[in-house]
Amino acid sequence: MPKLVMKFGGTSVATPDRIRRAAKRIGVEVSNGYNVIVIVSAMAGKTNELVDWVEETAPFFDAREYDAVVSSGEVVTAGLMALTLQEMDVPARSWQGWQVPVKTTSAHSAARIEEIPTANLDAKFAEGMKVAVIAGFQGVSPEGRITTLGRGGSDTTAVAFAAAFGAERCDIYTDVEGVYTTDPRISDKARKLDKIAYEEMLELASLGAKVLQTRSVELAMRYKVRLRVLSSFGEMSDNVGTLVCDEEEIMESNVVSGVAYSRDEAKMTLVSVADRPGIAAAIFGPLSRAGVNVDMIVQNISEEGRTDMTFSCPTDQVARAEKAMTEAKERGEINFHDLVADTNVAKVSVVGIGMRSHAGVAAQMFEALRDEGINIKVITTSEIKISVLIDRKYLELAVQALHDTFGLEQAA
Ligand code: ADP
Ligand code: ASP
Ligand code: MG
Repeated sequence: MPKLVMKFGGTSVATPDRIRRAAKRIGVEVSNGYNVIVIVSAMAGKTNELVDWVEETAPFFDAREYDAVVSSGEVVTAGLMALTLQEMDVPARSWQGWQVPVKTTSAHSAARIEEIPTANLDAKFAEGMKVAVIAGFQGVSPEGRITTLGRGGSDTTAVAFAAAFGAERCDIYTDVEGVYTTDPRISDKARKLDKIAYEEMLELASLGAKVLQTRSVELAMRYKVRLRVLSSFGEMSDNVGTLVCDEEEIMESNVVSGVAYSRDEAKMTLVSVADRPGIAAAIFGPLSRAGVNVDMIVQNISEEGRTDMTFSCPTDQVARAEKAMTEAKERGEINFHDLVADTNVAKVSVVGIGMRSHAGVAAQMFEALRDEGINIKVITTSEIKISVLIDRKYLELAVQALHDTFGLEQAA
């Protein structure tokens, strides 16, 4: 029998009633002839609550116990979903990550899936089980400890199951109709896209569009999983969502497909470091070892052998970055006059595969920001994206302006 993966996010399983509504959709796919693998998230808000409890209990927590706690939200919804399906006479059972087992690395709180053996589930499908309900976001390390896959990780669980079981499709049910030209919560002009290329989705996700976890898009691209994002609310019939697919499947694409943003960025500047071979290694080596995810980097013009080095990282890693830099200075590896942290910045990016063949996107972006009087602090570009760091207070304005200037209101 063909298999389908259906993933339900937090708002789609927020209450027993919503779980029932999701279960009805699953029931329809079962009657369409599929064996269904359902991936569930924790109820909306639950994971945040669990994270808060961990941080309240132990500010410098043991990541293994963090995972033990925060993985529990999905355990509850998996059991409730299986019960709901059974109440509807659909043969179903729940599985926690370790029972499958979803084998991961031991990088607690950010583990990567390494293997999903199919034998256990397939044996149950062969016995007549119609739906396997899997607790998303979790797995088990080689040491036998519970792991989690990073925030938003149930998307990755879903795509990994779709790849492992050769599912016909992986449907991600969420609280919006699909992937939009920008976050529909920030702009009412945002338009739903019918299709988006893997590469564009990958950029949008990694630049902050949380509708899909970045890693899930990577896996979908690598294993050619047909990935669909759609709403778990509304009528089933007119609900086509957005297909994430190969570039070749998209007939006409806009130069820019979407605008993404990330609110929690910080800009750090090491003022007056010696401009010598090895200085970048001496700065970014310790930052990386301290677990700081450096994003943008700018080295300013050098004057009399000294230069300023600016980089960005998530706001909650500023303290860690400061500690790593101060310690490197104390060890005599680097020398700087000052370390300035600006935690009131945000990153706004435009993404589109059309940029490969179109010049002038950057100029148009900068002009649109200029017209709104928004100052650009840092710029980075790649083949299909341009990102800028700006004052956080201009975030919404910048997203709107870029959405307008690239005509995304007309996108489809
Ligand atoms: P779930 O709980 O279903 O996993 P998430 O909250 O993780 O849902 O992701 C869905 C949210 O992603 C939407 O509510 C929306 O605010 C946000 N989002 C950000 N950028 C986009 C975009 N380009 N298209 C659609 N949604 C987006
Ligand atoms: N519940 C987890 C989170 O909120 C995983 C997920 O929903 O994808 O991050
Ligand atoms: Mg999510």
